[in-house]
Amino acid sequence: MTGWDAAGATPAEGTSGGCGPDCEQALGRLFAYVDRELEPGDAEKVREHIEDCRPCLDEMAVETMLKELVKRCCQEQAPDDLRVRIHAQLTTLKVTRTAP
Ligand SMILES: [Zn+2]
Repeated sequence: MTGWDAAGATPAEGTSGGCGPDCEQALGRLFAYVDRELEPGDAEKVREHIEDCRPCLDEMAVETMLKELVKRCCQEQAPDDLRVRIHAQLTTLKVTRTAP
């Protein structure tokens, strides 16, 4: 626990549900959300969740960046493995930058 505090990544306080099924649902829909492919009701649920959930908000930032990158590199939908590879790199970047 102290390790997280030392890294300055104190978990958000006052989140009611914590990380659980809600996060899984939100994360599973993030890509569709940033692509505006969700039904309005679903998009609203994702938006409400990421407003309360810092990890998911960070994840959405990665997805948004990823979407921009893919759009810039290839006009069409990127193959899944490319998406996964860029995602891994962005996540690594983020972790590296957050670490002391
Ligand atoms: Zn979450």
